[in-house]
Amino acid sequence: MKCWHCNTELIWGGDHDIEDENDEYAIVSNLSCPNCGSFVEVYLPKEPTNGKDLHSRQSTQDQGE
Ligand SMILES: [Zn+2]
Repeated sequence: MKCWHCNTELIWGGDHDIEDENDEYAIVSNLSCPNCGSFVEVYLPKEPTNGKDLHSRQSTQDQGE
């Protein structure tokens, strides 16, 4: 994964299990840039957000009315 700001390859710092303390996300990964010093956190959702499923459900309801 490349740095957003300077495009240098980020250094992975580690993963943290936040399932117990966070309602929406299960794991946060932190990465840092050795060039510009940027710090990046990546949050993994507990349940993958599936926009297509949500949308199709709404469409079905609309058709029924
Ligand atoms: Zn950078």
